[in-house]
Amino acid sequence: MFGGNVLKRVLCCCSIAVCCCIVCVAVLYYPASVRQDHVPVAAPVSAAQPETNCLAQTTTTSPITTQPSTAVPATQPPSTVPPTTKAPDFSYSLSALQIVPTYTEKYTYEQMRADLQTLCSRYPDRLSLSVFGTSVDGRELYCVRLGSSAAQRSILVQSTIHGREYMNTMLTMKLLEYYLYYYDTGFYDGVRYADIFEDTAIYIVPMLNPDGASISQSGLNGLRSEALRQQVRQIYQQDTTIDQDEMSFSEYLRKWKSNANGVDLNRNFAKGFGVQSNHTAPGHEKYQGPQPESEPETQSIIGLVSSLPGLQGTLSFHSYGSMLYWECDQTGSYRTLCYNYVRLMRDLTGYRILGADGVPFMGSFADHVISRGIPNVTIETGNVNTPLPLSEFNRIFAETRQTIAAAAVYFASR
Ligand SMILES: [Zn+2]
Repeated sequence: MFGGNVLKRVLCCCSIAVCCCIVCVAVLYYPASVRQDHVPVAAPVSAAQPETNCLAQTTTTSPITTQPSTAVPATQPPSTVPPTTKAPDFSYSLSALQIVPTYTEKYTYEQMRADLQTLCSRYPDRLSLSVFGTSVDGRELYCVRLGSSAAQRSILVQSTIHGREYMNTMLTMKLLEYYLYYYDTGFYDGVRYADIFEDTAIYIVPMLNPDGASISQSGLNGLRSEALRQQVRQIYQQDTTIDQDEMSFSEYLRKWKSNANGVDLNRNFAKGFGVQSNHTAPGHEKYQGPQPESEPETQSIIGLVSSLPGLQGTLSFHSYGSMLYWECDQTGSYRTLCYNYVRLMRDLTGYRILGADGVPFMGSFADHVISRGIPNVTIETGNVNTPLPLSEFNRIFAETRQTIAAAAVYFASR
């Protein structure tokens, strides 16, 4: 999809342009000028119970080491690294998973909340749900822990920091259901899921930007506040004037990535804030915000990251492009740790690894965690522009099915 001699614009979650006449098969790196959002460039129903029955605050804290920043060394060429060897996989049935629906393209915040409650009721010994913040439009931000509360290590999975990439919420919810269903019988690389998750707890934030997802799915009807609806109308008028954008209002909303304030949350973090910024006002994408960490969703996930016990690494789900980002300004053995992490994800998903191309950070979630010594891989799911159509889902599920378990095993074996 990226071949050809003409420069093509391709939106990864964001919009990436790749292309080039490349003489030989080589690694693709995005030029800084076209890099958009991610790490430097770089998966039997019971009745729901009252929400408070499952709630448990994640209050444990653990020190997080800050990694010193130095010059960015040359990127290792991913194509030269041989695949890692893994034990045989096991057979599973997607149709056996009957809680999280995958027949609807617009998997909503409300559906996610109901499914979290159902999963919590079904698997009370393996799951714990917490609220770690509130969105601009007043929606609770949910984090679910898969595995033991006594685990010394943890992995954080976050998705849908960009509104229109909401299929990743359905994906991470389905992955959660999958791991729960096969908890005692499934395995990764010969290790039972139960053993993996008793050792390393998985914290999943399936929808970090619920307001943005709701706007993309339902337009202005996705907002609860009339004041915010008016604000979004004004943002459209101003943004389309500045950019001379001819996008209709309904299409503008469908393509919404930002939060309800028109701030791109994946540019709102302090590390690299303002770098590459050419948007000075709120919009449906790319505006970094009035100051670093200005948005409640950003502040909440930062707090969550700081509170997780023994956080080893993170996975960030975006769309689209079937690509992986991993690079920030890592050096030395930390860089090797991060690179081997993305190699593992490449071997599992078959997605391409992309590098930073000299622009190490841009205010993203990935920049935040990586600069604090926590490796992150950003997984760009899907092969077509966002919002992804439902036809993409089953393949993406198959491609990403083992990523979370693999991340846990990887860091446990360090
Ligand atoms: Zn994105």
